[in-house]
Amino acid sequence: VSRQKRVVMGNWKMNGSLSSNSELIAGIAQRMSQIGGATDVAVCVPFPYLSQAADLLKDSGVSWGAQDVSARESGAYTGEVSAPMLAEFGCRWVLVGHSERRSLHGESDAEVADKAAAALSKGITPVVCVGESLEERDAGQVQAVIERQLKPVLALGDDAVARLVIAYEPVWAIGTGRSATPEQAQEVHAFVRGLLPAGAKGIPLLYGGSVKPDNAQVLFGMQDIDGALVGGASLVSKDFMAIAEHG
Ligand code: PEP
Repeated sequence: VSRQKRVVMGNWKMNGSLSSNSELIAGIAQRMSQIGGATDVAVCVPFPYLSQAADLLKDSGVSWGAQDVSARESGAYTGEVSAPMLAEFGCRWVLVGHSERRSLHGESDAEVADKAAAALSKGITPVVCVGESLEERDAGQVQAVIERQLKPVLALGDDAVARLVIAYEPVWAIGTGRSATPEQAQEVHAFVRGLLPAGAKGIPLLYGGSVKPDNAQVLFGMQDIDGALVGGASLVSKDFMAIAEHG
């Protein structure tokens, strides 16, 4: 199976300001020369800052995206942001189904798949986030949970799946400082790879959950880990780019 490029993607979550963003982006852009062409470096920023990211990242080699997208194209959906809007700001990526969206906003597996489809229809790559809670892991349900979360996504069809990125983010590892071990992550990544249709086996499978400069290298050394989705450490340019360098 030929693999696509590695991806190291920052998820800023609800952090930043015009001034702190411009400092962070400058730090990232400055360190881009140390990153080989084999790694895609990207940041997913809050909606109001898309225009700032598009401005400051143009010609930097760093791409940008959003953290959520509506499944609908336009209309009476107060507070929502559509894929056509993201496309206007040059978004290359959008996170869908981040665990914080699933748990705090009740997003269902089906809705996450609809959001992925909406992004794809505008040429934006959805980064579909999946992952089990600690309770589910302790109950031996990891594979069942991942399979359930991915089912409606895989039902979008082989051509759609071939254009996705999937991020495995165990909920217990997000923002906790407790990363999955490389072996735990690899095991789930191999399982996810196994669920993919033949024509989509090479899509990037990212790991997320307390990725830091000191654990990135060994995670990226695992056979089925093609990059990382980075929360906390993506807010510090030196740390984020140290992670990207290991990619
Ligand atoms: C995330 O929220 O996608 C994430 C991986 O966060 P952190 O790196 O802070 O665990």
